[in-house]
Parts: sequence; structure tokens; C-alpha cells
Amino acid sequence: IEQKDFVLSVEGLTVSFDGFKAVSDLSLYVEEQEIRVIIGPNGAGKTTVLDLICGRTKATEGSIKFKGQELTRMNEHQIVHAGVGRKFQNPSIYEDLTVFENLELSYPKGRGVWGALTFRRDAAVIDKVHEIAEMIFLPDKLDMPAELLSHGQKQWLEIGMLLIQDPELLMLDEPVAGMSVAERQQTAALLQRITKDRSVLVIEHDMQFVADIADRVTVLHQGKVLSEGSMERVQNDPKVIEVYLGH
Ligand code: ADP
Repeated sequence: IEQKDFVLSVEGLTVSFDGFKAVSDLSLYVEEQEIRVIIGPNGAGKTTVLDLICGRTKATEGSIKFKGQELTRMNEHQIVHAGVGRKFQNPSIYEDLTVFENLELSYPKGRGVWGALTFRRDAAVIDKVHEIAEMIFLPDKLDMPAELLSHGQKQWLEIGMLLIQDPELLMLDEPVAGMSVAERQQTAALLQRITKDRSVLVIEHDMQFVADIADRVTVLHQGKVLSEGSMERVQNDPKVIEVYLGH
């Protein structure tokens, strides 16, 4: 059996808001190249887990190790720099700029051998923008103002703006909400393609999409892991069925 390393190891993670534990003693291990999907009813703590990993919310207790670095001791900016990208539900693209400009602006500044040499960096940026545009299905929309894109294309653009920063862990909050069936299929293909050299952690409610993309599913309930494993396994777990179907 191929043994992959964990890119993310979360242990004993707890956060209390005025004494209420939104996340409680949570452990989560994500492998390299894995697509992990977090599901669970409203209020289960899914968004809070992503907020904790990206440093938006400070943990009360516990550890979040990403490639051996302790994220709980870093601020949001340092966590991005360490290689964690986070996409929120509402796209934060620049509507009046073109697709090209949106991607160009997201390119990390001052990285790479030629970082100080502007003319060299520009050539590298242009190449990278084209490569990403191809990946996110927008190669012929580079000169289009972002506001003219469809809802789904805007979501892809934002994923592209994260990919151009080359994160090793990409976290997505309901990436296919509001997308057409065709766009969902394209998004599934996109996620599968990008995990050749990174891991993806997704919150998702669309169970068909979860079944299509998930290597493993983590079911959260009341801030704790209720069940974990393949989609088939968690779907047939009586504890999961009870939580989803009521009592
Ligand atoms: P989910 O994403 O699974 O729907 P959330 O992570 O948004 O769940 O919320 C988990 C619980 O934590 C909810 O009961 C929510 O009201 C509470 N919560 C989340 N953030 C805060 C906060 N900043 N202050 C107080 N309570 C919060």
C-alpha cells in the first residue's frame, strides 16, 4: 500500500465562543494529493474549522501542523505565505478588471530568481496567467471584464487567483453552489487535476458532487468528527443517517 505523508495534521483543536465550543477536540489528517470533503448539518463547525486553519479565528486549544509548521502561532498573512489558500463562498474578484488583470494582480510579488528584474518577471507572469487561464476554462476570456463572466466562471477565476499563488493546500467553501450541472462537472475535473501536486479541503452540501470528488469525507456534528472515510462508508454509517434524517 502506498503510504502518503500528511500535509495537514490537526490535533485536539478546540475553539470556544463565550463558553460554547464550536469546534471541540477535533483531529483531522489530510494526505498529500488528497481531496477531503467536510460535510455536516448547519452549525456543525465546518466554516469555523477552515477559519481556524487559515488563521481567521484563533484556536483556544490544539495544534494545526502544515508541512511541519505550527499554524496556530502564525497570522493570516504568514499562513498564506506558508502555502494555504482559502476561497470563501462569495467571490472576491475585481469586477471592473479583466480576467488577465485579476490573475496578474494575484501573482506573488518578489518570488523566484528574477523577482527583482521587472522585465523578466513580466514574461514569467504572462506565461503563468495563460497556464492558469487554460486550467480554469477561461483561456479565451482573458480580455473580458470579470463582471461579464457567468457566476460559475467567476468562481473559477477566484480559484485561479489562488492557484497562481501555488498553494499546497487549497480550502474551498461550497465551490459549486449556484453552478450549472456542466459547470459542476468541469469543477470536479479542475479539482482532480490540481491535486496532482497539492491537497484540497472542501466544505460541500451537494452530495452528488461530494461523491464525485472526495477521496475521503469527514462528517462534522456539534464541533466533533461524527464519522470519517469513503463516501460509501459515511453514507451507510447509522450515526450519520440519524443526524441527517432527524431523530
Ligand atoms: P457550519 O459552517 O458547519 O454551518 P459554523 O462553523 O459556521 O458551522 O458554526 C458553528 C457554530 O459556532 C454555530 O453554532 C455558530 O453559531 C457558532 N459560531 C461560529 N462563529 C462564531 C463566532 N465568531 N462567535 C460566536 N459563535 C460563533
